[in-house]
Amino acid sequence: MTEEKNGGLTPEEQAARGGLKNYKPRVYEKIQKFDEKLKKGESIAIIQFQYDYTCNFHCHHCCITRLRRPAGTRCFTIPDVKEFSRQADEMGLAHWVITGGEPLCFRDFDKLVEAIDPSKYYLTSDTNGWFLDDAKAKHLKSIGLDKIQLSLDSLNAKEHDEFRRAPGSHARAVRAIDAALNAGLKIILATVVTKQRVRSDEFIEFLEFAKGKGIGTFVTYAKPVGDWEGRTDILVDRSDMDYMRQLEKKYNVFTHLTPAYGLDLGCIAVKRMFSVTKYGDIMPCPYIHTSLGNFFKEPLKDIVSRGMNIKFFGNHVDTCLIAEDRHFLGEYEAKRITGKPVPVPYKEVFGPEDMITK
Ligand code: SF4
Repeated sequence: MTEEKNGGLTPEEQAARGGLKNYKPRVYEKIQKFDEKLKKGESIAIIQFQYDYTCNFHCHHCCITRLRRPAGTRCFTIPDVKEFSRQADEMGLAHWVITGGEPLCFRDFDKLVEAIDPSKYYLTSDTNGWFLDDAKAKHLKSIGLDKIQLSLDSLNAKEHDEFRRAPGSHARAVRAIDAALNAGLKIILATVVTKQRVRSDEFIEFLEFAKGKGIGTFVTYAKPVGDWEGRTDILVDRSDMDYMRQLEKKYNVFTHLTPAYGLDLGCIAVKRMFSVTKYGDIMPCPYIHTSLGNFFKEPLKDIVSRGMNIKFFGNHVDTCLIAEDRHFLGEYEAKRITGKPVPVPYKEVFGPEDMITK
């Protein structure tokens, strides 16, 4: 069969879907309805869930520090996660990424997975790999985790360790790759690409390394947040993004803008991903620090549908708003978000002119 006849799915994507049909039928069932949901203007978001901000590292680019609130602020409990999972399932959402902080530091990680309910979601966990040895990887697989997204900044151990401010972290991350593979967990590398790195030999060597291991690389473009706040020199431009598209033909490398599973959505904020803070705020993307609403105050579906009604998120945008779109960065990020306590309420960022009028 041609890709056309398979709804645009590549043979690898078809095989993955087929596996899911037997292994997680509820997830498969929901994914089958994605096309229909998109046509109705509904989100098919991956839930990027920042359950806790505890971490064993203090990385340079980390922007989580700014999201932390004083002790005593209402934050997710395990029963809250159960309720969130129930509402998201009802909305037909099928993917969940546990993030932090460092998820493998969470004392109640197993309870968290149970509350999410792995039978309802394709479940990924971010990690810096520090705690991911063979035993841990086997355990994660046994409780229903599907995939590991491992942060690796460079093949150069010294650079990685400096960036992470954690000596030995590169060696631990490399160990984590083999541990995940040995346990039968899917794994991808997550790496940040700056203007300075995108065309470097080191980046090609990095992709060759991933290819040698038989795993994919998820690239996030550097954003002017965290330690890089205000740093426009690190931002990629359209030509760098075109170059990345060329690399996608040779390597298993992808960004948020890479079409997958027959869907070319452009920027995936809200329509294919949203972020949930520890305190219940729903943000359109982990790097756009505005709150579309708070889960503890409103049903999730109302908040997500509000996000889909903002033109940047409901319409097709063929670039990364927060890493490349100079208009969004200048008019919205710099003027309405930077320097304020985050996440900034959506009403302070978007006006009536930014809404989709039906
Ligand atoms: S703004 Fe950029 S990082 Fe955020 S969802 Fe869109 S493409 Fe991804």
